[in-house]
Parts: sequence; structure tokens; C-alpha cells
Amino acid sequence: MTRQPIISLTNITREYRLGNVPVRALENVTLEIAHGDFLALAGPSGSGKTTLLNLIGCIDKPDSGRILFDGVDVTGIPLHRLSRLRLQSLGFVFQTFNLIPVLTAFENVEYPLLMQGVPKRRRESKVRHWLDQVGINQQSGQRPDEMSGGQRQRVGIARAMVGDPRLVVADEPTANLDSENASRILDLLARLNETTRATFVLSTHDPAVMARARRVIRLRDGRVAGEESNPMVIDTEEVAC
Ligand code: ADP
Ligand code: MG
Repeated sequence: MTRQPIISLTNITREYRLGNVPVRALENVTLEIAHGDFLALAGPSGSGKTTLLNLIGCIDKPDSGRILFDGVDVTGIPLHRLSRLRLQSLGFVFQTFNLIPVLTAFENVEYPLLMQGVPKRRRESKVRHWLDQVGINQQSGQRPDEMSGGQRQRVGIARAMVGDPRLVVADEPTANLDSENASRILDLLARLNETTRATFVLSTHDPAVMARARRVIRLRDGRVAGEESNPMVIDTEEVAC
């Protein structure tokens, strides 16, 4: 039996209002995302990438259409009742890192575990593990303003991973980095996708990100305008078979 997709969107529409003027951000989007995928949402600014990621990450609701998360219909569940799902199953990575400025790297990564009520010893070992995984243990006592952009994004990634998410949503994770750091962050995300088998959905307009994705969905004016699979990206599961 084939496993159901982790995300299934059917005929999604999302409209914002600017005063009295409706802005159609997504129009009739239908999309399935398989478990373990490394997928890029590509498209110019304003094409609806962030809106779509917010729906996939269960932090926004569509005006019409249906969303299944791992087979569960979450469309009619109010956002506040999805907070446990977000905390336990999702990780978020942001373009501008969104670290808490007064907290150290260690404390930023620890924060979601505090929210989950994880005991201190377990928190410490998980935070150490993930700071190590992203290569930041030397900077664990530093605050965000004492770190480079690349280092901050590594902390952001450790924070996203520390709760063992099934799905990681990354909104333009390399857009604020120089090309060398962007490439290293991309390597890290691809490695985490392989080692954890978590599903990664990245939005981008960076060709380097699209080249590394296993699947690219192109958005234009709020619609799916095309899709490509990337044969250059080796699927470790297929190789192992
Ligand atoms: P992208 O991430 O690809 O740049 P967005 O999802 O942010 O695209 O935006 C899609 C469309 O929705 C754009 O036309 C944008 O101006 C509009 N939009 C996004 N957020 C809002 C909002 N909060 N209020 C009004 N319009 C919005
Ligand atoms: Mg955006």
C-alpha cells in the first residue's frame, strides 16, 4: 500500500483584503506532497509562495478548498486548536531567521522544548545534539547579534529540528545570505532531509535552491504554473533498493 501524502491540498483559494479591495493570493491550488520529499516552491515575488507555506504549516486557513495533514482533514479545525500539531509535527525556518534577540543560541533552540514541557535534562541533551548537527556548539552562548547570518540561520534550523518535526517549512531560507553561506545552508537542509527523513518544503526564487530540490512546483499569480522533478538529485531510498 502506498503511504498517503503528508500534505494534500485540494482546490485551495486564499484571498486577502486590502481595505475593500480583494487580493487573490492563491487560486484553485491542488497539490500533494509525499513523505520525505525535498520540494521547492518557486516563483517571483507576489506569486503566493508565503501564503501557500502558511497554509501548509497550519498557521493560516484557506477561504475554500481542503487541506489534509497526514491524512487528517485540518480544514475545519480552528488555528488555535492546531497549535499542538504545529509544536509536535512542524518546524519553521525563516528568511530573516526570527531568533529571539535577548536569548543565546542555546536558549533559542531550547525554546520550543520549553513550550512542549520537556524536562531539563532531556532539553539539554536535545539542544546540544542539534547545535552539534548544525555546527554551532562553539557559539551556543552567543546572542544572535554576535553571530553571522549563516550562523543565525543554523540556529534557526536547529530550533526547527529540535522537536523532531515530520515536516519542515522554510520560507526563502537562503535569501538573506551570500552565495557561499546559502550553499552551505542548502547542503545542511539536504543532509537533514536524508538523515531524518522529514519532509522539507522550501520557497525560493534562487536557481541554486531549485537545482537541489527533488521536486519543483512553480507558482505564478497564485496558481500552479508547472512542475519538474529533478533527476540530478539522488533519491537515497531508491539507491538503497
Ligand atoms: P510571495 O511569498 O510569493 O512573494 P505572497 O504569498 O506573500 O507571495 O503574496 C501573494 C499575494 O498576496 C501578493 O499579491 C501579495 O501582495 C498579497 N498579500 C500577501 N499577504 C497579504 C496581506 N497580509 N494582505 C494583503 N495582501 C497580501
Ligand atoms: Mg514570500
